[in-house]
Amino acid sequence: MLNNNTIKSITIVGGGTAGWMTAAALSRMLLAKNVSIKLVESEQIGTVGVGEATIPDIANFNRMLGIDEQEFLAATKGTFKLGIEFRDWGKLEDRYFHPFGAHGVDMNGIDFHQYWLHTKQHGNTAKLEDYSICSVAAKQSKFILPDNNPKSVLSHLRYAYHFDATAYAAYLRKYAELRDVIRIEGKIASVTTAQDSGNIQNVILENGQIIDADFFIDCSGFNALLLEKTLGVKYTDWSHWLPCNRAQAVASERIEPLPPFTISTAKKSGWQWRIPTQHRTGNGHIYCSDFISDDEANQVLLEGLDTKPLADARTIHFQTGCREQFWVKNCIGIGLSSGFLEPLESTSIFLIQQGISRFISLYPDGNMSEILKKEYNRLMSREFIQIRDFIILHYHATTRDDSPFWNYCRTMSIPDSLQHKIELFKAGGRVFRDDQELFSKASWIAVMLGQHIEPEVYEPILAGIPISEIQRSLDSMSSAMNQAVSQLPSHGEFIQKYVNGVRA
Ligand SMILES: Cc1cc2nc3c(=O)[nH]c(=O)nc-3n(C[C@H](O)[C@H](O)[C@H](O)COP(=O)(O)OP(=O)(O)OC[C@H]3O[C@@H](n4cnc5c(N)ncnc54)[C@H](O)[C@@H]3O)c2cc1C
Repeated sequence: MLNNNTIKSITIVGGGTAGWMTAAALSRMLLAKNVSIKLVESEQIGTVGVGEATIPDIANFNRMLGIDEQEFLAATKGTFKLGIEFRDWGKLEDRYFHPFGAHGVDMNGIDFHQYWLHTKQHGNTAKLEDYSICSVAAKQSKFILPDNNPKSVLSHLRYAYHFDATAYAAYLRKYAELRDVIRIEGKIASVTTAQDSGNIQNVILENGQIIDADFFIDCSGFNALLLEKTLGVKYTDWSHWLPCNRAQAVASERIEPLPPFTISTAKKSGWQWRIPTQHRTGNGHIYCSDFISDDEANQVLLEGLDTKPLADARTIHFQTGCREQFWVKNCIGIGLSSGFLEPLESTSIFLIQQGISRFISLYPDGNMSEILKKEYNRLMSREFIQIRDFIILHYHATTRDDSPFWNYCRTMSIPDSLQHKIELFKAGGRVFRDDQELFSKASWIAVMLGQHIEPEVYEPILAGIPISEIQRSLDSMSSAMNQAVSQLPSHGEFIQKYVNGVRA
């Protein structure tokens, strides 16, 4: 029952990364509002147990919680990530790096990559990524925190983390429980809704315990216990564009020297990730079961490992897409219950963050006005669609024709929104995006060029500048980066020193 027109109690269903991130954030943000928060999870069901690579926004989430970075890295066996190396995506035997942060420095209001394209036509053999500080450091397995001095080339470093997802959830559990979140262990057997409003009233555990609340957050993973099974919210299926529907994941021994980046290698019927953490390496093969059997996929995974596996691989089934609505009645879905985009650009944890922060910014009173729900649904839907397009780009913009899977991806129809971006880029190397869009101009450029979408013409204004002058500027940027990176410690050394003495 709602009381005094404010929400007095929230129940979170699920204790995976989504559940504990939500519990931690709400326990911090709603402290003053006097809301009781409960979280129900079932050890018997467990969590999906993957989700180890992130994008830089995760640091904002941790900062908002007041989490100490060193303590967090010690507790989650975390490492730093400067970007993703894509292998064999545009064509076989091909590599490119999608760094965090920009390439080079824009000059005279013209994007850096336009200068680079211009010099390339005049014989410059350096790659675009050779002008990215993240990429240069990653290639040498070096790392340091960004320099606060804006004049230093090292001030352009941007980073995210790789970590043990289970340890992160456990860390946040400790955090949330210290702030009065009550954890309830048990499997939910049924959910009751009010006859008049259709709102969720309570969840009932197998042992008969009844847990009611004013508001419910569905973090029950692919199960989508509240959003789908109770409230009947439909799923929009995006398998036409993103046909992969299975993953096999396995941990292997740690890699030396410890790389500060993720690797994504395109395979015949999907792709394989390699994520280095302090204690082990996370690996997984994402594939489409229409093109390869589970046994063959397992063989591909094991053949692609750089270090010895530590266990047998686990198979996870999924369908790419998202919910038609994310907030219905007195319930929102956060995490896998709300949708899934494969982890090619490590965006799922970011989507959890967005779900939480949008909920906080649209936090309702007991009336739960429809306009708040509408806005939340609009914003989350837009976020999923924008990320979807960026991921489709990797699959579609390829010249690979060595398997039925790649023939399908290369020739499939793509969303108009993506088609438009590609055509604009081809016409002059330009990228236009929404202000709110997650992936920056630099990211679009890195992937478009990396996947061999070459602009037909370059920025015409550059024709008036002598090529030798442009090349000199580029050379000086590149040598400043190489000089700075040569002084840096290795990523492994940095981690050891940074988390040394910090209690996990
Ligand atoms: C193959 C793969 C790789 C991924 N890699 C990345 C990555 O690199 N980066 C990234 O950002 N994201 C990644 N993700 C996504 C990431 O794993 C998820 O976004 C994240 O783990 C959140 O999951 P979740 O908490 O929503 O669900 P889950 O971890 O599945 O948790 C669901 C919770 O609900 C509980 N539950 C369910 N039903 C009931 C019930 N009836 N009663 C009680 N409790 C119940 C479960 O016990 C569990 O606690 C990946 C996902 C997959 C599938």
